[in-house]
Amino acid sequence: MNILLPFRCLPAIVAAGLLSLTGGASAAGLRIVTSFYPIYLATLNVAGDIPGVEVINMTRPFTGCLHDYQMTPGDLVTLEKADIFVVNGAGMETFLDKAIGQVPRLKLIQASDGIPLLATAGVVNPHVWVSVTAHMQQVENIAAGLEQLDPDHAALYRKNAFAYLAKLDALRATMRAGLQNVKTRDIITFHEAFPYFAREFGLTVVAVIEREPGSEPNARELAQAITLVKKIGIKAIFAEPQYSAKAADAIARETGATVYRLDPVVTGPMTPDAYLIIMQANLQTLEQALGRQTTDAGHQTTECEANIEHPTPNYGISTSTIRNRHKKQEKISHGLNTD
Ligand SMILES: [Zn+2]
Repeated sequence: MNILLPFRCLPAIVAAGLLSLTGGASAAGLRIVTSFYPIYLATLNVAGDIPGVEVINMTRPFTGCLHDYQMTPGDLVTLEKADIFVVNGAGMETFLDKAIGQVPRLKLIQASDGIPLLATAGVVNPHVWVSVTAHMQQVENIAAGLEQLDPDHAALYRKNAFAYLAKLDALRATMRAGLQNVKTRDIITFHEAFPYFAREFGLTVVAVIEREPGSEPNARELAQAITLVKKIGIKAIFAEPQYSAKAADAIARETGATVYRLDPVVTGPMTPDAYLIIMQANLQTLEQALGRQTTDAGHQTTECEANIEHPTPNYGISTSTIRNRHKKQEKISHGLNTD
């Protein structure tokens, strides 16, 4: 993956034969349904202001991650009225086979297509959007998919994507500049949501206390976490606003570490700038929690430094793994470029 420019050649993410929307569910216009909050925000920016195009989020904005989410009868009604379903992919929507089975005419856009994926113990991590760079590629994929599925509005999708990608690019530059001189780069989190984020900004996730979100660690796991925090000298541990901070508070009491909230952008206001605002808040939290270096205070990040493309890491697992698991809805075929 190279530098992400708004007009770079985009992968053909929609299969041939899906280009016609004739027979779509909404005769009056185009109805795009998204699976959950971060994908809704991306799609809203690309398509939200186009006359005759409607963007609807299938799940509620406080649902959070879709791990083990079961579709409701209401979700099926929403999908039956949809023309296009935009999903994160990368295994986040475990109900996707069912959705496609129930509404086979749905046109699907998988936002994570072509993005190298991280895995822990062979399990693919679907929290792709938490990296600003990967989220930019998701925005590009969504725009490219909509352009192909709805060519009448292609110029508007492209224009909107260009504008939003510029905002994300500026956000990324601000975050890189803010995080490059923090005193410590080790973080402990409570849900497997931050590996992409950490990788992007050079942070190290030394432990994830609750791999299953919302699950409480048992006494042994808690004791191990406390030992680790003491051993490494971790001063800050990061809970998420979406989940209980009970375990984090317990560890903090035993170790003297401070609990902060880091937001993986899975809940929030349904407004176009929400991703940008939440990430800015994350930056402030991290700067406060990790501390600013004072020895290098005179250094200013130049525009050039801020835009240096970090090399894409070799994650050891790719979207092809997911594709094998989701062969039924796999509509596309394009090579991964993980150089
Ligand atoms: Zn999650």
